[in-house]
Amino acid sequence: MGLWSWVVGSESVRWSPQIERLFGLPAGSFDGTFERYLGAIHPDDRQWVKGLIEACLAPGAAPLHFEHRIVVGESVRWLECRGRVERDAGGTPQRMLGTVMDITPRKEAQLALEQSATALRLISELTSDYVYLGDEEDSPVPRVVAGSFERIVGFTTEQVRARGGWLSIIHPEDRQKAVEMLGALKQGQPLVGEYRIIDASGETRWLRDTMRPVLEGGRLVKLTGAVKEITREKQLEQQWLQAQKLEALARLAGGIAHDFNNVLAVIQSGIDVVVRRAGVAHDEVLTDVRDATERAAELTRGLLSFARRPLGAPQVLAMDAELNGLKAVLVRGLGERHQLSFEIDAAGVAVRIEPGQLQVLLLNLVLNARDSMPEGGPVRVSARALSLDANDRRRPANLAPGRYFVIEVSDTGCGMGSEVMAHLFEPFFTTKGARGTGLGLPTCHGISLRANGGLTVQSAMGKGTTFWVVLPIAAEQPAPHTEANISIGGVERLLLVEDEPALRRVARRALVERGYAVLDVGSAEEALSLPEDQFAGISLVVSDVGLPGMNGTTLVQKLVERYPRLKVLLTSGYLPDEQAKTTLARGNLHFLPKPFSADGLARRVREVLDE
Ligand code: ADP
Ligand code: MG
Repeated sequence: MGLWSWVVGSESVRWSPQIERLFGLPAGSFDGTFERYLGAIHPDDRQWVKGLIEACLAPGAAPLHFEHRIVVGESVRWLECRGRVERDAGGTPQRMLGTVMDITPRKEAQLALEQSATALRLISELTSDYVYLGDEEDSPVPRVVAGSFERIVGFTTEQVRARGGWLSIIHPEDRQKAVEMLGALKQGQPLVGEYRIIDASGETRWLRDTMRPVLEGGRLVKLTGAVKEITREKQLEQQWLQAQKLEALARLAGGIAHDFNNVLAVIQSGIDVVVRRAGVAHDEVLTDVRDATERAAELTRGLLSFARRPLGAPQVLAMDAELNGLKAVLVRGLGERHQLSFEIDAAGVAVRIEPGQLQVLLLNLVLNARDSMPEGGPVRVSARALSLDANDRRRPANLAPGRYFVIEVSDTGCGMGSEVMAHLFEPFFTTKGARGTGLGLPTCHGISLRANGGLTVQSAMGKGTTFWVVLPIAAEQPAPHTEANISIGGVERLLLVEDEPALRRVARRALVERGYAVLDVGSAEEALSLPEDQFAGISLVVSDVGLPGMNGTTLVQKLVERYPRLKVLLTSGYLPDEQAKTTLARGNLHFLPKPFSADGLARRVREVLDE
């Protein structure tokens, strides 16, 4: 520290030798002028230092106290300067006296501190992670946090403390693990732990916490850590594991179903031969066996679909026309208690998919939505092209980020817990007891994958469910919207009367595959003896004309008398005879010549139902 004095207004500034040393001047070389003093000050500080000194001479001014820089050789140094003015009795300034002190080390430390505080603030603002420093307790709460603590946890540290500490917001299933980690930390072992918390809004989030304990005398006194939210990574990991599991299941199921189908084909054709040879068309045992093989064939068909065995050549279809064509089927499927809201924004979007499968897919999702709301409620179907980025939870793990056609089906129903979610796409997994088949979602999954897309879901108990069908957008022009593409399915209940077993089976399959519920019998007498309640929901009878015993025309006349609103489709290899013609003329009745294709039958059934 050096001393100085200045006789105000004169050229006489006096410095003690220490000041000369601070300014890097040889002892005794200072010439005592005010100009020389100012000249030694850092150019940026010179003007305001001069101003301060001059202002200090004014009557009643405060004593001098300031910090400024000087340039000594190549380096900049910081000085702290204090001074006061001596005045005569009239208040005129006579002399200034003061001290100068080198404060460079303190100043540099202070600047470094400010810089690191600024850096920390910037990092805190920019990072999506957070770091913490805490004192050890049984359920520690960080004392100092930098970064996105509140954004991740939803609570402030005070709120966490008020709730009873960190352990209290950890997911109940992970608490034991957290206690064990704390135990290891107390042994001085640094570790990286992954665990779940329940955030302020009740959502589960996954955290990865890199923890470092500080021990003193064998006791844990401080805990530091860096925390990253990994919820999305965990979701993708789960999806990936799920996909692996399903892949293995699909291979197994597909293999079994394929071989089993061959076995069934032998059994079915064997039964037909036995029936023909022995002429025992109405043998009860044979009928049971035939029905059982029919059910088995339906199961294997479901499995094959899940296993992604192709069900037809994919075609590039215009989504606009396809989806709008499906609306009526979905509305019928839902029934009156549920309202369908349908928002399609698909102009110009084409997707490569097997014809008919879009209907199976949406019908399954919509019917599941219906089942989740037994008391009724809204089902939303919306669709549009969307860009899904890496973090979008609608993006299936098997698809790269990008632009896709996304169909969303959502309900406000019972939702699903994690137990159900874990098995959702597995064949035969159902919570609906005998009413469910557990083949709906596996089929949907198979269809989306065969179209090189995927299926994702979000749901919570009591909070409804949303499924997203994500499909790649095709670059090619769509095929013209032919009749074959138009939906010819439905969910009505039908009664099928046909005495020829093979034909009855083909017809039944054609209708069941397109969504209808089919009750089938082999004769008019059987049809008439069906109990009332079986008839309740039936909208249409498809009957052969030439039946053993009572013929089809007489049968439908009797049925229409009983149920006037019943619609009828007669089929025959002959043109309608006189009796049939008169009956047909009475309305409500329609005719389909034999032989017919599966599509031909389905299209005619749809037409008659829609009439
Ligand atoms: P099923 O409908 O025959 O049970 P699925 O494969 O279609 O078979 O569905 C499997 C299970 O998934 C259902 O039993 C149900 O528990 C659950 N599920 C599917 N969709 C929904 C939904 N929208 N809301 C609630 N649970 C659903
Ligand atoms: Mg279902």
